[in-house]
Amino acid sequence: MGKNGGIELHKTEYEQFDLLDRVNDGNVDADVARYMRIIHILSNNISDLYGVNVKTGGLTVFRQAGEAVGVNEKINMGAHYDVAISTYIDNNVYHEDREEMRRALSFYNVCELLKKNESFIYRYRVFRNNTICHFHLKCARIGDGDNFEEIIYAFASDEEDIKREILQQSIATGTGKQRRKVLVIEDNDINRAMLREILEPTYEVIEACDGDEGLEILRGRYRELSVVLLDLVMPNKTGLEVLEIVKDSPSLSSVPIIVITSSNRDEQEAKCLDLGAVDVLPKPYNPVIVMSRIRNIIRMRESASLVGNIEHDELTGIYTRQAFYQHALALLDANPGIEFDMTIADVQSFKLINSIYGEAKGDEVLRYMASFFETNTLNGICARYGGDQFVGIAPAAQDRKRDWLLEMASELEKNCPIPNVTVKYGVYTNVDRELTVSGMCDRALLAVKSIKHNFEVVYTKYDGPVSQRRQRDQLFESRFEEALKTGEFYPWFQPKFDAVTGKLVGAEALVRWIMKDGTFVSPGEFIPTFEEDGLIVRLDEYMFRNVCTKVKMWMDRGYQLLPISINLSRLSLHREGTVERYKKIAEEIGVPTKYLPLELTESAALHSIQIKNFTDALKESGFQLHMDDFGAGISSLASLNILPFDVVKLDKSLVDFIGDAGGDEMLKHIIELAHFKNMKVVAEGVEQAEQLEFLRQINCDIIQGYYYCPPLGYERFLQFLQRCIEEDNVLFE
Ligand code: C2E
Ligand code: CA
Ligand code: CA
Repeated sequence: MGKNGGIELHKTEYEQFDLLDRVNDGNVDADVARYMRIIHILSNNISDLYGVNVKTGGLTVFRQAGEAVGVNEKINMGAHYDVAISTYIDNNVYHEDREEMRRALSFYNVCELLKKNESFIYRYRVFRNNTICHFHLKCARIGDGDNFEEIIYAFASDEEDIKREILQQSIATGTGKQRRKVLVIEDNDINRAMLREILEPTYEVIEACDGDEGLEILRGRYRELSVVLLDLVMPNKTGLEVLEIVKDSPSLSSVPIIVITSSNRDEQEAKCLDLGAVDVLPKPYNPVIVMSRIRNIIRMRESASLVGNIEHDELTGIYTRQAFYQHALALLDANPGIEFDMTIADVQSFKLINSIYGEAKGDEVLRYMASFFETNTLNGICARYGGDQFVGIAPAAQDRKRDWLLEMASELEKNCPIPNVTVKYGVYTNVDRELTVSGMCDRALLAVKSIKHNFEVVYTKYDGPVSQRRQRDQLFESRFEEALKTGEFYPWFQPKFDAVTGKLVGAEALVRWIMKDGTFVSPGEFIPTFEEDGLIVRLDEYMFRNVCTKVKMWMDRGYQLLPISINLSRLSLHREGTVERYKKIAEEIGVPTKYLPLELTESAALHSIQIKNFTDALKESGFQLHMDDFGAGISSLASLNILPFDVVKLDKSLVDFIGDAGGDEMLKHIIELAHFKNMKVVAEGVEQAEQLEFLRQINCDIIQGYYYCPPLGYERFLQFLQRCIEEDNVLFE
């Protein structure tokens, strides 16, 4: 950025003197020269600035870089806006954009637009020196939508506009209702009193008796002040010294200063202007002149900062999405050899925040986040992407720690004005420069959306045109057939224990996928995929058959049998003929169905006749039914009542609640109810002694969980079983 900042500065200064020369030649109205100085100070990044009178269509030139071809001649001839803009378009704008721009910027169209909006930005391309440059035009009305007399047109090239530091210092305009504030720095009591008398009816006057006091007020209140009147001759600090100090501070120099002088020496006047004063007022005061100069300056300053603010989000002050598109492009163009990452941050449940804490608090949260992202976007830019989303682009974070994003995310949440706010991030790394910026944003957005419902994940990367999830699904699906054939799926066994005696009472079979290359995929990953595409039905049956075979082997070796439960997915329940097939498999292999309990998830236990018939049929075939994951989903105690379950399995989330007063109470009631219905209760996911202790107290029957034992591979489970038998640690039915 600012690759030719120095050169530009020279250019602007050169223009200024050029125009001043013309003032002296009597070519340009003295007012214009004054405006130009103001613009020079307030918004360096604008190359051309015009005012258009709404009634007459007449043009005023506030500032001109002199690069627009053909326009000046027309203006000098007193051309109407329509003629001037049309000349500009024909002679400067890239041919593809001409027609559209002519339509969009017709005087009628611009006025219509400004009736509805305070301002707008129009972007287009200019063909100059054999290259295409990106430009934008900012239009703002001066006045209300139903009554405005003047329109400000500011032309800027995007390259220049990147000097956003300057833009960001543009001051907020005073809100209409409040009286604008004028600071008078003047040591002479009588002069101060006179100025107060002139200004008081229109402005709030703040007085300072010398340079030091004036500076102190300016430092504390520069945001509120509209104008400073500064006397040149004062004890302890002269006006020039004050100007000298102000000049070096971007915030202080954002307030226009008018110098008051009694000496008519041009030399001193020039020096003041050089030091950043916007105007010079002669003593003795002429009330009409004082008021009109101040009014003009305030008007120009506010319109200029208004123009500057168009690109900035009103609430947060950072770039709007539209502005981001342009600046990101310029940033990429200016750094051709560098990899850039784009990130979108999405505040979760922001609507909820608004409704719980109120909109004012919600706004505060957004402002906080905007300023956080602004400071943390290193060497890049960020913007408010939409309501509760932010976007940033910056050079790839290769030299950063792997977890820097996570660290930043937790830092953000830690200092947030309200607790428990979650923000998720979608990162599109090494952006493809062939894409439009909005296309890049789409990819980051796609990534962040993909983790919306995943509570454990804070950020994810965009992973090619097919979504990550989809890619994984496809991999699993493509391997399924082969995996089934070559036996990559294994049942593991997690033992269950009697809560009172701690003796082994059975086990649950849990599927494991160990791919040929040794990759271990956990069921949490592939079960959802297979549930979606229906392959789960075949996997269930495969597991059932496999477990039956193993149980049969134990039988044949003379072991006494323990029930080994098998999971049955919802899809299997809905499938025609499942009961018959399972029954047949068990018969063919030769295992009594009572040793093969089926775990059905609670969500599957819908109150439909179909399920009722299905579960009844399973019971008739001799299967025991376990209601799995009770308490995890939409728990329905009613289904306990209607359906013929033998066992309720308390979900781990309920067990995790132990220790929480409400949770304890609830568990107690569930167990009482289950016992009342003659069902046994299994607690799953028991990890701690305290949980076990409590479960015992409330008469839970069976315990499954890491506290006793994790799921074991076939061989290890056999060894475990063997040892329990030897130690008389098994409880057979
Ligand atoms: P589930 O049926 O609720 O199985 C219990 C899960 O909790 C198992 O995870 C088990 O390893 C885990 N677990 C057991 N004790 C503890 C503990 O103390 N702490 C913690 N944190 N976890 C414990 P797994 O094996 O990853 O299975 C996940 C889910 O995948 C199962 O949940 C089940 O819904 C499904 N699943 C597993 N195998 C099969 C299968 O063969 N068929 C079908 N349809 N689904 C299966
Ligand atoms: Ca289960
Ligand atoms: Ca469960």
